Amino acid sequence: MRIDLHTHSSCSDGTDSPTGLIAAAKESGLDVVAITDHDTTAGWDEAAEAGERFDVTVVPGAELSCRLDGIQVHILGYAFDREEPEFARERNLLRDDRERRAKLIVERCRELGAPITWEQVREIAGNAAIGRPHVASALVEAGVVPTVDAAFSSDWLADGGRAYVDKYALDPYRALDLLRASGGFAVFAHPAAGRRGRIVTDEQIAALAAAGLRGIEVDHVDHDAAARDRIRALARELGLVPTGSSDYHGTRKTVRLGQNTTAPEAYEALFAGTNGAAPKRAARPEDAPR
Ligand code: AMP
Ligand code: ZN
Ligand code: FE
Ligand code: FE
Repeated sequence: MRIDLHTHSSCSDGTDSPTGLIAAAKESGLDVVAITDHDTTAGWDEAAEAGERFDVTVVPGAELSCRLDGIQVHILGYAFDREEPEFARERNLLRDDRERRAKLIVERCRELGAPITWEQVREIAGNAAIGRPHVASALVEAGVVPTVDAAFSSDWLADGGRAYVDKYALDPYRALDLLRASGGFAVFAHPAAGRRGRIVTDEQIAALAAAGLRGIEVDHVDHDAAARDRIRALARELGLVPTGSSDYHGTRKTVRLGQNTTAPEAYEALFAGTNGAAPKRAARPEDAPR
């Protein structure tokens, strides 16, 4: 069984539609794939339908923007009830603030001399939960930087960079509470991805583990071998389920689907005690594209 528990579609900053994502997962020989767009569940229904069509198990999820003591933290939430009102409201706030902040980032870029416009970035993003990678694509289109990755330098979009603007983010403890209250569970995404900015301490991870965190991403493209060894040992010590995933973003990043995967035993352990991976079909999707 090949399992990839962290991917993005065009509902956030990936480039494949949910259907395209699942088709690509099939093509890559994956049996299980989670759709974990940033702060939105908008791709769930389409991905679930494609899962049936392509015979791929689709795990519904989301990657939640959190901040802990000033450090940006991403919490992967899985198999939650997206209609639970408090959590749905928080995801709305997160998406609305992404919009406010993206406009400000575009303004900063323009002040710094980049010939991009809000209309252009909005068009690149479509209905997606908008983020820095969409602005990065505009900077590439305008010839300001050669690649999306290059846009994440201190000159432009990196954390604390010249065009960086903060966005609303959840306290991860609140994210854990919201996930628990809506029947889901949490995995800490890329905890040692130092190239993106400051990372949390082992003590901070231990405290989250005590508060109900269920798993932690060990095998991730932004973790080198030493980081993987360290996080794997920490997971064992804290009783956290170790996961591996691609964090696929379509053509916006070079990482391939299934480049890192989760062991079947880990997958089973994650879902033990929950109501399983089957996505709930909502009659009234609260995250309908706007
Ligand atoms: P945002 O949620 O708008 O703050 O953007 C965060 C996203 O930007 C992450 O999910 C990554 O896909 C991407 N990102 C963050 N840091 C980097 C980096 N150093 N290089 C490339 N992409 C990055
Ligand atoms: Zn992303
Ligand atoms: Fe992330
Ligand atoms: Fe991600």
